[in-house]
Amino acid sequence: MRERLLKSISPRSLLGDRAICPGDEQYDIQRRVWNSMHNRRPAVIAQCVNADEVGAVLRWARSEGLAVSVRGGGHNVAGSAVADNAVMIDLALMNSVDVDPVAMVAVAGGGALLRDLDAATTTHGLACPAGVVSHTGLGGLTLGGGYGWLARKWGLTCDHLAAAEVVLADGAIVEASPTDHEDLFWALRGGGGNFGVVTRFTLRLRNVGPVVHQTGVYALATAYEALVAYAGFAEEQQLDLHTVGALKIAGNHEWIPERLRGKPALFLTACWFGPPSDGPDVIAPLFRSVPPGGRLDQVLSYASLQALGDYSEPAGNRYFTKSCYLSDITSAAAIALVNASDEITSPLSSIDFEFLRGAIVDVPDGESAVPNRDAPYIVTASAQWTNAGEDETHAQWSRRTVDSLVPWQHGGAYVNYVQDAQGEGTTDIYGESRYRRLAATKSLYDPENVFRHNQNIPPVET
Ligand code: FAD
Repeated sequence: MRERLLKSISPRSLLGDRAICPGDEQYDIQRRVWNSMHNRRPAVIAQCVNADEVGAVLRWARSEGLAVSVRGGGHNVAGSAVADNAVMIDLALMNSVDVDPVAMVAVAGGGALLRDLDAATTTHGLACPAGVVSHTGLGGLTLGGGYGWLARKWGLTCDHLAAAEVVLADGAIVEASPTDHEDLFWALRGGGGNFGVVTRFTLRLRNVGPVVHQTGVYALATAYEALVAYAGFAEEQQLDLHTVGALKIAGNHEWIPERLRGKPALFLTACWFGPPSDGPDVIAPLFRSVPPGGRLDQVLSYASLQALGDYSEPAGNRYFTKSCYLSDITSAAAIALVNASDEITSPLSSIDFEFLRGAIVDVPDGESAVPNRDAPYIVTASAQWTNAGEDETHAQWSRRTVDSLVPWQHGGAYVNYVQDAQGEGTTDIYGESRYRRLAATKSLYDPENVFRHNQNIPPVET
């Protein structure tokens, strides 16, 4: 009876001012996503506060024949959270996070940002491994996998998912866990937003303490040698050490020598999660064979580490991202990376890379939908600019950069960094057998492909 009643209720009657339509004062603010390349106009933005409301909005959208998009943190580079003339289910108000420090578990709303999660967990000296920019949405990040500083030590964010409350395409609310809807639980860990709206994530937590963080900056003339040395160092490290690098224009920071500022440079960063007193000795060899032009050494709280990247990729700029996995950073690959940074077209763009493996590989391949767990490196050519007239120039630099790495590519792609269509679409991302299992699960849970504004896995045609 309640279901039938809800079906007939429009978002406006159900949600009042939380249903935002064209012409409403908030419309142009709330339809924005992080990447301003995507300027789309939904039919209605439904700001839900619980699973019942999400279910009701879904039923209404379907009864009206309207498409649906789901917004977690709105950070996806492809802008999949918003679609023209669709109903945007906006989870931003569902951002509360409750922590049980004894059970070491956090329960987060489907629209929580990483900063909401970190704020709630770090006061207890706990954390769930997640991404490196705190304004990223937990929803999209977890459903696609979730790389971050702690991935080598403890695995991906989705490896910490203990259970999820999910609103299915027909509005039904189910719990997915290792013992409940196991097929759905498998697909949610890597398969993206294809299977339902997750209104609650239950996440296992880890202990975290102070972090030793050191960065070295190199002029492009020494970047090639430093990159080769980095690869040798990174691949030999214990799991408590996570290393990342970036090729980008050096900024105006005190610790960066003036002669390097304003020019393309290599940044190498090592983060140590073991006992702080051991950190400097473990990291020292990274900077020994090719000494950097400048160094920044600091000891940070985990919460500060998580916010370090917050200002370099602000919402509202224009972005184009192309990414790939690499099997190795050989001498020739290092040359290709350095050359691409020399041709960088915007002072805001960067090529980011990190050595992965560790605990990511420890999860048996079939246990979750995440593909490419064995990939050694991930590289992202992230173009950022502000002038719409320059879109093609910067997107082409990003594409050219990744194309120049073809000889060393590992295959596949990280679903959360895909902006251009991949070769064979999502089959390319997941590989054939995993893709088939995902499509079969999609057919069970969303046979009409209601959740299609994402890196879509269409149901199997019958
Ligand atoms: P949104 O744009 O809101 O949603 C994207 C898609 O996810 C939606 O279309 C929907 O299909 C789905 N979705 C989101 N929430 C839900 C939900 N609750 N239920 C069902 N479906 C949902 N990734 C990493 O792994 N590690 C990083 O360190 C990292 N850093 C990043 C830094 C920046 C600045 C940016 C922009 C992205 C970063 N990413 C990183 C990529 C990130 O994982 C994806 O952009 C991800 O899609 C963001 O999730 P969101 O909820 O903000 O996305």
